[in-house]
Amino acid sequence: MNDSPPIAVPPPSFGTLCRSLQIELEPAEIDRLGRFLSLLLEANERFNLTRITDHESAWMRHIGDSLTLLPLIASARASRVIDIGSGGGLPALPLAITLPDVSFVLVESTGKKANFLQSTAAALGLGNVSVINGRAEEIGRDRDRHREQYDIVTARAVGKLNVLLELTTPLARVGGHVLAIKGERANEEIAEAKPALHALHCHVTNTLRTETGTIVTIEKQRRTPKLYPRRPGEPKRAPLR
Ligand code: SAM
Repeated sequence: MNDSPPIAVPPPSFGTLCRSLQIELEPAEIDRLGRFLSLLLEANERFNLTRITDHESAWMRHIGDSLTLLPLIASARASRVIDIGSGGGLPALPLAITLPDVSFVLVESTGKKANFLQSTAAALGLGNVSVINGRAEEIGRDRDRHREQYDIVTARAVGKLNVLLELTTPLARVGGHVLAIKGERANEEIAEAKPALHALHCHVTNTLRTETGTIVTIEKQRRTPKLYPRRPGEPKRAPLR
């Protein structure tokens, strides 16, 4: 007999994390977050979206880790957020569930994952979410619709900071921010990304250790030079140095 609690019920450690972040969730939001996790883990049986599948880790490392960005987005009074390399929807879908007045664009290059994001947003009734099946390097060159138009760009587990900066900063407006969820080697990545920060007219304004990771905040100071982002694949193949 399986006596672990259903995935829709968050473990006590998740409540503790929310209190430490000073986040108060409505019962309806917790219900939607649980439904999202169920859909994610169900789809994960058909194609690879995550390695984390046990109940408590999924709430902490998927939902909790995503929500560590919530206070930063709320305090910035952001209205337009774009998430790069959304994969199974992290951190964007938990944020879209808990910030219904903010519009979220999710960019994912793999078609199957983008389809999952689209159908999951629809199943959860998230009217503030749109999904683009495409590459950040292309979206970042689209002046009419995306380039320099977002208050905040988010990304988790998409690449090292020196690569990620070229994928994300062209999308932020001048004065806007990139919020990157990183691990324990955040400071090494920041040091390695100095040339990229310089070339892309950005600087790191904060690093914040959370219970689940490290949030690096980058501010865009001036417009991105026309050269960036380079063509698809180039930022990863030859990171700025
Ligand atoms: N952000 C999710 C998370 O934290 O679970 C997914 C992380 S997964 C390791 C990285 C995702 O980024 C993959 O789904 C990949 O297809 C996508 N990706 C990588 N490079 C990309 C690019 N240049 N443009 C758009 N998506 C990209």
